[in-house]
Amino acid sequence: MADAPGKFYITTAIPYVNAAPHIGHALEFVQADVIARYHKLLGEDVFVTTGADENSLKNVKAAEGLHITTRELVDRNAMLFREFAERIGLSFSVFLRSSDKDIHWNGAQELWRRCMKAGDIYRKSYKGLYCVGCEAFYTEDELDDGICPVHKTKPEPVEEENYFFRLSKYQKELERAIESGEFRIIPVQRKNEILSFIKGGLEDFSISRSVARARGWGVPVPDDPTQIMYVWVDALSVYMTGVGFGRDESSFDKWWPADVHIVGKDIIRFHAVYWPALLLSAGIRLPKALLVHGFLTIEGQKMSKSLGNSVSPMELLKQYSTDELRYYLMRDPPTFDDGDFSENGLKDRINKELLGDLGNLVNRVLTLTEKSGMQSFSGPNELGGKLKLEEIRSRMDGMDIHMALESIMEFVRACNKYVNDKAPWKLDGKELESVLYNLLEGIRSISILLYPYIPATCEQIAQKLGTKITKLDDVAFRPSFTEKLSKGGYLFKKV
Ligand SMILES: [Zn+2]
Repeated sequence: MADAPGKFYITTAIPYVNAAPHIGHALEFVQADVIARYHKLLGEDVFVTTGADENSLKNVKAAEGLHITTRELVDRNAMLFREFAERIGLSFSVFLRSSDKDIHWNGAQELWRRCMKAGDIYRKSYKGLYCVGCEAFYTEDELDDGICPVHKTKPEPVEEENYFFRLSKYQKELERAIESGEFRIIPVQRKNEILSFIKGGLEDFSISRSVARARGWGVPVPDDPTQIMYVWVDALSVYMTGVGFGRDESSFDKWWPADVHIVGKDIIRFHAVYWPALLLSAGIRLPKALLVHGFLTIEGQKMSKSLGNSVSPMELLKQYSTDELRYYLMRDPPTFDDGDFSENGLKDRINKELLGDLGNLVNRVLTLTEKSGMQSFSGPNELGGKLKLEEIRSRMDGMDIHMALESIMEFVRACNKYVNDKAPWKLDGKELESVLYNLLEGIRSISILLYPYIPATCEQIAQKLGTKITKLDDVAFRPSFTEKLSKGGYLFKKV
């Protein structure tokens, strides 16, 4: 069945809420939001699911450490994440907490039932090494001298009877879906990594734990009061329950499959192997794409608890505007690779590009236009050719939002160069009108193109121009500019 035209469904990973949001969450939320807003500009109906992964053993342990109940901990931290998602401008449709019984549990259990019906779930007694930090089992040879390579802690030996999922059965189908691009993994080096992992052979994995080990926290396994669902199985199904799975079938049919899941490189295996295998088993369509982003180092160093160098985006937002932080996060680190966060880098981008290039352009042109006393502008199109709209679109379609932004900023610089070359302050009459026409249409196009990245600023620019943020199709030089400008303050201040 073909998809309904003009809909776009995107998800962020749902963070564990055992601590407050850090700058890595900001990166992912802004990436998701840029893609979501871009698709709105394409005229599509867009749905964004984000939320909180609350059923993890990590949360139980974190709460024990703080001498509060797990419920108190997740309520407190989920609120922090929700507020943060709002502050960073993530235009989410639903913020789904996986401890929400009404919205989430039945769908998570329905996925389980379908896999069970397909004959892919069986009981087995199991012995393994479990890292609570990773919420994953390790084999001896995956550990560094018995220590988790991610958390530098010793995994707990666990021995109990659990349910297992027949992952091995789906090896060939997964390979085919990924290789053919039916399930796209972006970027291609991640696709290759995961394909070679799959070709190395897949082992069935444990998808439940005893109620005792889970401290009774989590989604119960259907028809077995002794077992709780493995947190990843329940967390992944948030992508479906967010749009109604197990609750509102017409909504689910409208939105599923997801157009893209955005995740960090540390959780690619869960999203590129476990998740599609569960869906294949349950007879549910695969998501269309998985966008895997890199990690941020902090001032050149790995972000870590022991270094205590985690950067709080909520603290940054006391000093910098949402758009300034959003711009930096999309402009500086590449979309598909690791990047570095540095506060000097942030200040630099604000001063040189937001203030120096964009703010300055808008300010100069509006001042010149006002001084000209002219009401309507037209002339030969001398600037539109510098706008590489096709390149921007193709980069956005490939989800390279960092490089798409580079193309847009190139046009901003071209507009500034045009001002310098033409020196409109020395011109008058038809010549002046023509130069202003080109610049006003150029800025109007910029306000639409940059909208996904810095929405509040672009609304402000549009308001100054007397125009509106409409559709991407309106990025084109019209024959004339006739809107009435309105005065206003500067867009950015030097930091
Ligand atoms: Zn670990």
